[in-house]
Amino acid sequence: MKYDLIINKLSGHDKTGTIGKINVKEGDSIKHGDVLFIIESQKGTLKFVSDYDGILEKLSIHEGDIVEKKQVIGIVEGECASPESCDINTIKETPKKTLKTSYSFGISKPQKKEYEKEVVVVGGGPGGYVAAIRAAQNGKSVLLIEEDRLGGTCLNYGCIPTKAIISSVDLLRKIKVSEEFGLEVEGLKINMPDIIERKGNVVNNLVSGVEHLMEKNKIEVIEGRAQVEDKNILSVKNKKIDAKIKFENLIIATGSSPKSIPIEGSDCGSILNSKDLLELKEIPQSMTIIGGGVIGMEFAFIFNSLGTKVNIIEFFPSILNNMDDDIIEVVRESAIKSGIKLYENSCATSIKTSLEGTKIVEFRTEDSHNILISDKVAIAVGRSANIDSLDLEKLGVELNENESGISVDSKMRTSNEAIYAIGDVTNIMQLAHVASHQGIVAADNIAGIYSEMHYDNIPSAVFTFPEVGSTGLTEKECTQRNIEYKIGKFPLFANGKAQAMGETEGFVKIIANAETNLVIGGSIAGIHATDLLSVITNLIDSKTSIDKASHTIYAHPTTSESVHEAILSADNKGIHYV
Ligand code: FAD
Repeated sequence: MKYDLIINKLSGHDKTGTIGKINVKEGDSIKHGDVLFIIESQKGTLKFVSDYDGILEKLSIHEGDIVEKKQVIGIVEGECASPESCDINTIKETPKKTLKTSYSFGISKPQKKEYEKEVVVVGGGPGGYVAAIRAAQNGKSVLLIEEDRLGGTCLNYGCIPTKAIISSVDLLRKIKVSEEFGLEVEGLKINMPDIIERKGNVVNNLVSGVEHLMEKNKIEVIEGRAQVEDKNILSVKNKKIDAKIKFENLIIATGSSPKSIPIEGSDCGSILNSKDLLELKEIPQSMTIIGGGVIGMEFAFIFNSLGTKVNIIEFFPSILNNMDDDIIEVVRESAIKSGIKLYENSCATSIKTSLEGTKIVEFRTEDSHNILISDKVAIAVGRSANIDSLDLEKLGVELNENESGISVDSKMRTSNEAIYAIGDVTNIMQLAHVASHQGIVAADNIAGIYSEMHYDNIPSAVFTFPEVGSTGLTEKECTQRNIEYKIGKFPLFANGKAQAMGETEGFVKIIANAETNLVIGGSIAGIHATDLLSVITNLIDSKTSIDKASHTIYAHPTTSESVHEAILSADNKGIHYV
């Protein structure tokens, strides 16, 4: 039997509510009593509980959507466990207009399939899909299993959607200072649903691109959750497919999920994570973000630019704790100037919800207890490797020392030599480009092509305002490793292009080994920082000395000239700044 899922209840006399955390997706089996999602409204928070046992065939809502009473938001195929409420939900002959679905009332059987492949990849994120492409390029028969959407966290809920929203916000910030450029703009209005829609379009385009790449490389893709049957056999069982997949080599690329924190109130449905923040269609008046790392700070600048009063609670002595102090200082100064309230060296201890629905976050510093009141609370304290996604014991795959990720060698091989693991699930460095490169290394080794991972020159980019990033060693790491180093630094206010663009915050810093004169690191804060970083990454990888690098000619006027000037100033030979 098929049933419409209908919003029958909202808090108090509220006419509309906002969809909070959604715990299920299309194709999931659901049981009577399961909390499918949360609805927030002015009067409070309500759990939408299933009356059915069955399969969630359609779900037409997203987190952040506004819904009203009597709205149809999905279809369930199964049995109703409380007939009095289900009676009104049963689908009658004519399907409702809103759902645009035609119904077949028989239960179709999942398609039985058997595969034998040389390489099977579990997870279609930037680790998994890149590994699959390289394995196919190496002449292997390849199958990829993805339970959600190709592109993984990065394309769907991470790198790309954040940067799409940041692009809207960047434009907004420019328009706000347009008069300085001789332009008057009237009637500026932020249309948050349109920003979210544009973000969705960017994501969808890129996901289609990955689908196309799979086809072109003749990679078979199965939608569904991979499960372990035996040491060399996986299965995928859902409504559509009942597949058995035998592999010679397996690449585990199951990624990571947002971490929570063990404090009172942190598991409440209305507490947001990074995925939720990307779907907010209403701009909150105020927000407290617990965690001032990369993800927390990117969202802090996004919402601050949109007009939200943002608080950051950071456990460590400073935001972006691993970066060099001069870089942190640029971001800290910019955050404070923009009105973001930073509470560093502070530990959140509880989250409570007031009767009106506002959130109260208690936190303590070394010598005080404090509270922050805001409309929304988000937790951005890092991500845990998805080590429970597959039965690793059955596969003979071991975890690392602190059991925070799958243990691998430099060729990305696990303790089972036929099985490789790459990306966030190894918890070595949770970055998309690291996952992709690990994927290439794994696929090459499977094909007998020698390749190893090195982690001493990994660029990392933070898309705050201004952008910051570093590559190779930081000054902090040189000190920890007792490396004698020298630095060359150039402020962006002395760069012609930066002045022309009105973007003079920040600097470029080059770090060289004092003994060998080789470039070993660099950090940049300021406009184009994340793109310029690759110039320094290349200098480090090609083992270039300051002397040699100083002879490269950079186009004028560009911000890349700042990299050249920083190189020159490492030997006190800077031209445009003393
Ligand atoms: P994922 O991208 O997480 O992909 C894993 C996939 O495996 C998922 O799609 C999942 O559905 C699937 N899966 C898991 N278990 C199974 C199973 N049993 N069967 C089938 N499928 C399964 N990194 C950057 O480098 N730059 C950035 O700017 C950046 N910004 C970010 C912003 C945010 C908000 C977030 C959350 C992350 C960001 N990251 C960024 C990190 C980046 O997204 C990750 O490092 C990257 O996605 C890791 O890739 P992966 O392939 O290891 O895993």
